Amino acid sequence: MTQIPNVYDAEPIPAAALDEVMKLLTSADLFRYTAAENAPVSLLEQEFAAMMGTKYALAVSSCSAALFLSLKALDLPRGARVLIPAFTFAAVPSSVVHADLVPLLVECGENYRINMDDFAAKLPQADAVLISHMRGHTSDMDAIMTLCDAAGIPVIEDAAHSLGTTWNGRKIGTIGRIGCFSFQSYKMINAGEGGILVTDDADLVARAIIMSGAYEHTWMKHAVPQKAMQHWQNKLPLYNLRLSNLSAAIIRPQLDELPRRVRDGLRNHDHVAAQLNRSPYLDVPAPLSGEARAPDSIQFNLVNMTDAQTQTFAAQAADLGLKVQIFGQSSDNARAFWNWEFLGEAPKLPMTRSMLMRACDVRLPARLTLEDCDVIAQTLVAAAQNATSQKAA
Ligand SMILES: *Cc1c(COP(=O)(O)O)cnc(C)c1O
Repeated sequence: MTQIPNVYDAEPIPAAALDEVMKLLTSADLFRYTAAENAPVSLLEQEFAAMMGTKYALAVSSCSAALFLSLKALDLPRGARVLIPAFTFAAVPSSVVHADLVPLLVECGENYRINMDDFAAKLPQADAVLISHMRGHTSDMDAIMTLCDAAGIPVIEDAAHSLGTTWNGRKIGTIGRIGCFSFQSYKMINAGEGGILVTDDADLVARAIIMSGAYEHTWMKHAVPQKAMQHWQNKLPLYNLRLSNLSAAIIRPQLDELPRRVRDGLRNHDHVAAQLNRSPYLDVPAPLSGEARAPDSIQFNLVNMTDAQTQTFAAQAADLGLKVQIFGQSSDNARAFWNWEFLGEAPKLPMTRSMLMRACDVRLPARLTLEDCDVIAQTLVAAAQNATSQKAA
């Protein structure tokens, strides 16, 4: 039988990173603020801002750190409410809690995107909005920005999994006041850990820079107006969430790989999606119009299956060698909102809950060939057929 491709291994880091890493190991110049200028972290910030077309970028230790600093930089009162989609990763409500704020969960629909009726209904209770583009699925950013601009509510974009995605030609992460990205290993660019935030707002980035750990006058090594920085000198706590030069050296050469990864990731996704959509039991929701995706995984819904058949589907796929995660059915799943017990009692969100009970997740890295993708698609279709043809016990 055909071998199921390994969907977990990461791509090798480009060889160009090796020279820089060797230089850093020899000089031991690993801290971003030691060199007088051109430290790898500073160069990464300049290159990333240029790539995104934003004025400023601040590299930090993770996307969660970027989200936390973004929320702190908004200077909301303690206990202020932050609207977030109910379909996201546990680190997102956690960053809200970490910033002494209260997450307010909004329903997501069968297409994994924010339900705009629930969003509009809950917006009057919110002081800020954090749009998590979960698994790179873009919610209706036009509708969201129109509502938030009219209400004067700031929008942060969690674009951890959306690097390379565009919305009506605009880069995701540059539409709200601040956009946050991840360099964790399962994202488009892999440094093990790392994150970056982008914004055009000098005052916001000044606050985030200081809180990220720019102590004394190290902020002078950031390309940010001095006036904004001086204003906040000694006024803010230092949370020390900086990125190491070593991580920046691993990230920088991967920026050049991004267009290829986006192109191949989308090709692989759409190739598998077309085959799954031919099965009466599998449905890959279409992107919103205006959305150009950059996926490295595929999500699909199981259609017309009982709970038992849903479990059998996952077991059949596993037997065939492919691990499928059903968000709402794998135990302690960090993307199922009812497992976020640290928030207290789970809110009633029937729409998101029913979606999570049938929504499946399979990694589909850009490095796979179309033949690999065929094997994955055929395995999923076969598992669905087997699951639905079994007689009830
Ligand atoms: C991965 C991810 C995060 C967390 O990123 P880290 O860099 O691991 O902190 C947050 N939100 C989304 C949507 C993610 O995919």
